[in-house]
Amino acid sequence: MHTTDKDCLFCKIVAGEIPSRKVFEDEHTYCFLDIGPVSEGHYLVIPKNHAVDLQSGSADDACYCLRSVHATAGAVMEALGATGYNLGLNHGVDAGQEVFHTHFHIMPRYAGQTRGFTKLSPADHELDIVQKKIQAKMEEKGLWN
Ligand code: AMP
Repeated sequence: MHTTDKDCLFCKIVAGEIPSRKVFEDEHTYCFLDIGPVSEGHYLVIPKNHAVDLQSGSADDACYCLRSVHATAGAVMEALGATGYNLGLNHGVDAGQEVFHTHFHIMPRYAGQTRGFTKLSPADHELDIVQKKIQAKMEEKGLWN
């Protein structure tokens, strides 16, 4: 059993009450595409246990999240032809945190493209295509469940 907050958007995503475009999941974490990506394939890694931010969650959940970053980022880069990624975390209102359930941002980067943090506003069907490419790569690597 995981600790949840019934009013938390990301807890509702983990529970499947709000739809998301899944990238990966394991016992402790859930990974899904950001709906406001700053680069193609921008996704979030979250602990299944609710905590408003990294500092108030457990050290184990912090580690589980980084394990999932490590497990997924290479496959996502391969799926999309990215050549690098930025890893980010906004901790607290003054750092720009808007959703109060711990999440790491993984922002794939591409050769020759600018490395901005401006949201790209892709259409739903474009996000669906990105998710399908990632899912296919995860399946190929035995990382999909
Ligand atoms: P932060 O500013 O670090 O709290 O980032 C919150 C992120 O969550 C933003 O990049 C949003 O685009 C993203 N986000 C908000 N709602 C959803 C949602 N329903 N599905 C996927 N991503 C979301």
